Amino acid sequence: MDLPVQLDPADQALVDGVLARRLRPLAKTITLIESQREDHKARARAVLEALLPHTGGALRVGISGVPGVGKSTFIEALGLFLIEQGHRVAVLAVDPSSSVTGGSILGDKTRMELLSQRPEAYIRPSPSAGSLGGVAEKTRETLLACEAAGFDVIIVETVGVGQSETAVAGMTDIFCLLQLPNAGDDLQAIKKGIMEIADLIVINKADIDANAAQLAKSQMKSALAMFRHASPNWTPPVLTLSALRKEGIAAFWREVLRFRDTLGATGELDAKRRHQALSWMWEMIDRGLRSRFRNHPKVRAELDALQAAVDAGTTTPSAAAARLLGFID
Ligand code: GDP
Repeated sequence: MDLPVQLDPADQALVDGVLARRLRPLAKTITLIESQREDHKARARAVLEALLPHTGGALRVGISGVPGVGKSTFIEALGLFLIEQGHRVAVLAVDPSSSVTGGSILGDKTRMELLSQRPEAYIRPSPSAGSLGGVAEKTRETLLACEAAGFDVIIVETVGVGQSETAVAGMTDIFCLLQLPNAGDDLQAIKKGIMEIADLIVINKADIDANAAQLAKSQMKSALAMFRHASPNWTPPVLTLSALRKEGIAAFWREVLRFRDTLGATGELDAKRRHQALSWMWEMIDRGLRSRFRNHPKVRAELDALQAAVDAGTTTPSAAAARLLGFID
């Protein structure tokens, strides 16, 4: 079913500019996507609908790791390597700190100085407004806009804290976890349930101590054996590399391509994208319902009193919920 798209001339110009692979219209489109204004949101939706047939062509790579592990050093080295191979690379970020403090620790252009100067690269910092869910949603839409603008590798970066990894794994084809060559680091990852969603693990800074890196690699491999990967056809490889010395970048990319080819051949990659799109839709429905509920005049009028009553034990949670939900029926 085609949804009707109504574009005014200014927005049609954005669409044409993005499809012509021009960066200014792309940046303007992303600004529209990130806007909190209701009229901008409606326009962004229409622009995205128009761009949608031109999306889907990129390899979407998620990269996560704690601050200091070497993400920006790695992404810069990888980005330059990919440009040498003829690719166009967009780097996006999902930064949970940006939604809390308004400040961002990821995706800053100055962190990837060489890459940001290349016309074949586009680096966009994390949107800084809204909840993590809102930030992730905007990054997803930005990813689509970048694909329509002809970027064929999209790297989505996030920090190894909180729920942001799940959000990034939910919008990328392959999710890569960067680790430091320290014993004990792997245990932290297990605790947070990150290993279950990692498709590829990289031990960075192998130049500092090659033995420590090898040890970390074998620890990581045995830790991985405790988890079952989502695909029966894939065992997440563990690589060691040095982002600083640009060593191991080609081997990393070979593994990414092997992942794409393996899961592409079985149809799992397509299935993953379809599943991601549907979960995205349901997430938006959930969030839309929640915000409609909270904004309903009767809910607003009675919410405080009913919360207080539940708190005081004078009414049950289910009775309060039933009354509040009754207002939006
Ligand atoms: P991010 O916070 O994860 O983006 O980490 P950065 O890329 O900013 O790197 C943090 C620090 O680690 C910087 O001083 C980098 O130069 C350094 N670094 C990154 N990769 C390597 C590496 O492979 N080897 C060494 N020795 N240092 C590295």
